[in-house]
Amino acid sequence: MSGFREGPPALRIEHLSKHYGTLVAVDDICLQVAQGDFFGFLGPNGAGKTTTINAIVGLAKIDAGRIDIFGNDNARDWRVARRLVGLAPQEYNFDRFLSIRDILIYQAGYYGLSGEGVRRRADVLLERFGLASKARDTYLKLSGGMKRRLTLARALIHEPRLLILDEPTAGVDVELRIELWGMLRELNAAGTTIILTTHYLEEAESMCRNIAIIEAGCIVAMDSTVALLARRRHDALSVTLDRPLAVMPPELAARAARYDPATRTIFLDRLAPADVPAALAVVEKAGYELADVEFKRASLQDVFLDLMRK
Ligand code: ATP
Repeated sequence: MSGFREGPPALRIEHLSKHYGTLVAVDDICLQVAQGDFFGFLGPNGAGKTTTINAIVGLAKIDAGRIDIFGNDNARDWRVARRLVGLAPQEYNFDRFLSIRDILIYQAGYYGLSGEGVRRRADVLLERFGLASKARDTYLKLSGGMKRRLTLARALIHEPRLLILDEPTAGVDVELRIELWGMLRELNAAGTTIILTTHYLEEAESMCRNIAIIEAGCIVAMDSTVALLARRRHDALSVTLDRPLAVMPPELAARAARYDPATRTIFLDRLAPADVPAALAVVEKAGYELADVEFKRASLQDVFLDLMRK
């Protein structure tokens, strides 16, 4: 894991456990997120992500463990700790009777903030998230994408140093997703530490520097995105020949190459990109022309599925 700034980590979770009756939702997990990081918290449905997030922001009572936010114990120094975190939750939980501007202003009130400064910040956020023209409407009049943006604006009203996003792009269209990515990158570049949960693994791959994967309440992997991607084993080369293969060249046979006579295609798995030219040269040296070549890099999704299978 790569560190970014001096000082305590933005988040340190030590031996956190949370049960619902007999169900162990989070089972003795430890986790650390450096200041300034863009951290992915991934896992299948029901793995324990939202439970962990709720514990971080003080919405769920924990059974064991300790959570520090920028060095502040979120149980003992809860007022300070909570002020440092903004949560954009998965479900919409806005007050249906308030205008969206008041939703932001009331939210600030939870952190003891009020007055002209808060109203100004609400207006700045509404402008920035393209919601200014709806400021006086209730959230019921917003489109799905606008509600997502409002969730983010509300999470930012008290200028948190740690922003937690629980599936911020679930169900949003491609355009808004790209727009949200841009906003999140900007926030992160300006110094906000971000924790993102998402089921879109390509999103995690492109946005997150470090990633933890939780399964059935346990952390099964925690590493930099680069290191996790280095675990890929499924990069695959397929070479279609101009005519049927007579004999598999020994260099390829030694690498467990497979041949499909129906499509005249040789398949080579787990091949590093740097080894592709040499593999193609072997085929050409054997006297074949390359009718088609395809090289498919494995993604974070393959690493994720591998881990889940284990
Ligand atoms: P998803 O990706 O589907 O949002 P998740 O990783 O966020 O899933 P959690 O919502 O944390 O998963 O749920 C973890 C486990 O705890 C699940 O088995 C879930 O059914 C259970 N659980 C969550 N909240 C409660 C609750 N309030 N009461 C009882 N069980 C719960």
